[in-house]
Amino acid sequence: MRTITRCLIAGLWVLGAALPAAANDIVIHAGTLLDGLAEAPRHQVSILIRDDKILSVESGFATPAGAQIIDLSNATVMPGFIDCHVHISSQLPSRTNATEYWLTHSDIDRALDAALFVRQMLQQGFTSARDVGGGDETVAIRNAIADGKIAGPRLWVSLEPLGPTAGHGDPRNGLDRGLSHPGWDQGIVNSPDEARLRVREHKARGADLIKLMPSGGIASTGDDPHRQLMTNEEMAAAVETAHSLGLKVAAHIYPAQAIENAVRAGVDSVEHGSFATTQTFALMKAHGTYLVPTLTVYELYYAAARDHPELLTPGTAAKELANDSLPKKNLPLAVKSGVKIAYGTDIGQGDHGQEFGLMIANGMTPSQALFAATRNAADLLGAPDRIGSVQAGRYADLVATAGNPLEHPEQFQQIA
Ligand SMILES: [Zn+2]
Repeated sequence: MRTITRCLIAGLWVLGAALPAAANDIVIHAGTLLDGLAEAPRHQVSILIRDDKILSVESGFATPAGAQIIDLSNATVMPGFIDCHVHISSQLPSRTNATEYWLTHSDIDRALDAALFVRQMLQQGFTSARDVGGGDETVAIRNAIADGKIAGPRLWVSLEPLGPTAGHGDPRNGLDRGLSHPGWDQGIVNSPDEARLRVREHKARGADLIKLMPSGGIASTGDDPHRQLMTNEEMAAAVETAHSLGLKVAAHIYPAQAIENAVRAGVDSVEHGSFATTQTFALMKAHGTYLVPTLTVYELYYAAARDHPELLTPGTAAKELANDSLPKKNLPLAVKSGVKIAYGTDIGQGDHGQEFGLMIANGMTPSQALFAATRNAADLLGAPDRIGSVQAGRYADLVATAGNPLEHPEQFQQIA
């Protein structure tokens, strides 16, 4: 996989004699183009790039005088991939348990870990990502990438997930209540008024979107993934306030009834959605709500629970083993329902391309998986005019791989 972004390319290109020379112009000769718009591949295409944007996409191999030509005539070019559910400062569960990591790493340690993990993400072909649940370090990393200080995907960040005391977003749950960290309180909401206040605080601190934890979760001590823990009124207040500020809302939810309540409250995406039913997906489809299935995290945690439960947060291995195979079993139902699906792994460190294989092994076509990671993801982020497709006006966030990944999906993970 070759990743081409504004960080990695520079050159000079002149479009024939008709246009004046412009610095930093480039033409890419793509043997095959999967543009993120049409299902059918295009062959022998020139992608003309000026500065960091795509100027045009033309049939045939144009060779304008003075242009820097990038020859990918033996490769397949695609829009840069987008991971809509990451935690940029999280280590893999096979390295250490999350509670231990929290207690042994400062905000600065987490920022430095994140700087490493986002660079690895970019090298895997992910040119944009949505972080749904970090602290101020995620804002700092987003800004550093945007300013060109470090390499990484364009980031949209949510700050701490909003949820109740003793919920999936309460890091104190199950710990000695004497332990404290300022960030542990910044997502706690126990009333509609607190939900409004938190959303506004997160906006002021630099959040691009809001993350809710309406139900319990799995990789956390002391809460139950089968229960709705936020009230409908709290969800509605959070969503209304977020939308009034131009922020979208992602919601971690498992039970069908809680998903349906959150969809009616107006959330923009359901993360995980493990216990959704046909009726739930029909409601999501009617409201245009995205599903982000995050199969990768379940794959990793299931293996950890089976082989190394000591590496998981206390008391969570049994929850993992009981629930982590459900999202895979449920994906064919989601696909059949026609609900919109966006790509998300729920990891920071690690292989973000793994979700392609899991989606394809569990009911999606390679083309559907690619759309989930490109145009659908861009739509969920609210940025289809900037990313997610290869067409004029979009950022030149492009990846290339040998062969055709629609025929050989392992190519989605092939790094040059
Ligand atoms: Zn997550």
